[in-house]
Amino acid sequence: MAVTDHVDLNQFMEGVKKRNPYQPEFVQAVQEVAEDIFEFMEDKEEYHAQQILRRIAEPDRVVSFRVCWEDDNGNIRVQRGWRVQNNNAIGPYKGGIRFHPSVTESVLKFLAFEQTFKNALTGLPMGGGKGGSNFNPKGKSVREIMRFCQSFMTELYRHIGADVDVPAGDIGVGGREIGYMFGQYKRITNHFTGVLTGKGLEWGGSLIRTEATGYGAVYFLENMLATKGEDLVGKTAVISGSGNVATHAAEKIVQLGGKVLTLSDSGGFIHDPDGIDQEKINWVKTHKTHRRGRIEEYVEAFPKASFHAGKTPWGVPCDMALPCATQNELLGEDAKMLVANGCRAVSEGANMPTDLDGVHTFKHAKLLYAPGKASNAGGVAVSGLEMSQNSERRSWKEEELQQMLKDIMAGIHERCLTYGDQGDGHIDYVKGANIAGFKKVADAMLAFGVV
Ligand code: GLU
Repeated sequence: MAVTDHVDLNQFMEGVKKRNPYQPEFVQAVQEVAEDIFEFMEDKEEYHAQQILRRIAEPDRVVSFRVCWEDDNGNIRVQRGWRVQNNNAIGPYKGGIRFHPSVTESVLKFLAFEQTFKNALTGLPMGGGKGGSNFNPKGKSVREIMRFCQSFMTELYRHIGADVDVPAGDIGVGGREIGYMFGQYKRITNHFTGVLTGKGLEWGGSLIRTEATGYGAVYFLENMLATKGEDLVGKTAVISGSGNVATHAAEKIVQLGGKVLTLSDSGGFIHDPDGIDQEKINWVKTHKTHRRGRIEEYVEAFPKASFHAGKTPWGVPCDMALPCATQNELLGEDAKMLVANGCRAVSEGANMPTDLDGVHTFKHAKLLYAPGKASNAGGVAVSGLEMSQNSERRSWKEEELQQMLKDIMAGIHERCLTYGDQGDGHIDYVKGANIAGFKKVADAMLAFGVV
C-alpha cells in the first residue's frame, strides 16, 4: 500500500478491534482518541506515513506475571499481576498500580494508553504506563496486604527503575501499599531511589501528593468556568466516589464556595441536601480510608441525608458533576439526564468514567466537559514533582507545590484551548486534550525514527 493510501478511522478501529479481542475498555479508549486524531491528521501526511497512532496504540510491552501469596489461614492464593509500559517517547514510563478484582489486561492497557496522553499534557517529562492486579484488598488483613505487596514487587522490581518506569498508587493502592512495595524494592535491590511515587513524607514523598488529583480536578473546573466569566461560588456539585480523589475534590469545592450534594461507593450514593461541608468530608475520610466502612453509614451520622442503594448520583440536579470513582460509571443515559437537569460543567476525577455514548452527549450539548486525561492529571503531575525532588534530594514547601499544581492545571487548560477552541464560544476539551497530548508524543516519536 502506498503511503498516501492510508486507512481511515473505521479501518483503523477495525484493526484495533481485531488485534485486541475481548479488550473492550482498551478499544473504547483508543476510539475516543482516534476520533479526534484522524481529523487532526487529515493534512499531516508524516503522522500517517510513520504510523504514529498505530504505534502509540500498541504498548511497548505488557508484562504479565503470577503473584503467589499466603493468606492468614495458610491457604496459597494465586493472582495475576501486570505492568503495561505503553510509551516512553517523552520520559520514563509513569502511572499507577491498581488492585481491584475488575483489573484485566484490557483495563490496564486502556489506563496506560490514557496515561500517555495525560502525562504529555502536564508538560513534564513522563511516558505512560500502568500496572496492577486482580487482587481484592477488601476484607484482607493488613498482614495479607503486606504479603501480597511484597510478592507483587518481587517480580515487578526487575521491570522498573527511577529512570525506567516509576509506578504510583491508583484504586486499592495508597500510601500503605506503596510503603510495603518500596520496602520490598529496597530490600531486593539495596537501592534507595525514587522508583515509586506517593511515598510517605519521611522517606522521599512529596507534600500535597495525596490531595493533588482531587484538588487538580477542581482547579481545572475553575479554569473552565472562568472562560465563561464564572466561578464556583454558590454552585452545586454532584460527586461520585468517596476515596482519595472524591473527598479531596469535595474539599476544594467547599473551599472555593461551592456546595457538594453527593458522594458514593459501590453500594450506592448518599444525597445530603444541606451540603457536605468540611466536617462531614473529614468524617467520610476517616470512615472510608481508616475504618474502611461503607458510605451508607453516612446517614446514621448525618440523618438529614438519604442513601440510595445500588444507584449512581447522576439524577440529582446540579450545576457541576465530578465523576471520581471508576471507568464507565457515567453512561449515555446519565449524561442525558445531567444535561436535561441543567448541569453546565463536568470535570472527570476518575479515568474514563464516561462511556463513549456519554462523551458524545456532552460534546453535542456543548457542555464545559473535561476528560480525565486533562482534569485528573494533577495527581501524576505532583508525582512528577516528587520525582524531581527525589533526583535533587530535596523537598519543596507546601506553598511552592500548591502553586506549581495550580500552574500545571492552568497550563493543561491552555494546551486544551490550542486545539479545542471551536471559535464559536465553545471549547471541545476532549479534542483539545487528545490532540495536544498526541502531538507532543508523536513529534518525539518522529525524531526517533522507526523504533
Ligand atoms: N493513578 C494516578 C493516575 O491515574 C496517578 C499516577 C501517578 O502518580 O503516577 O494518574
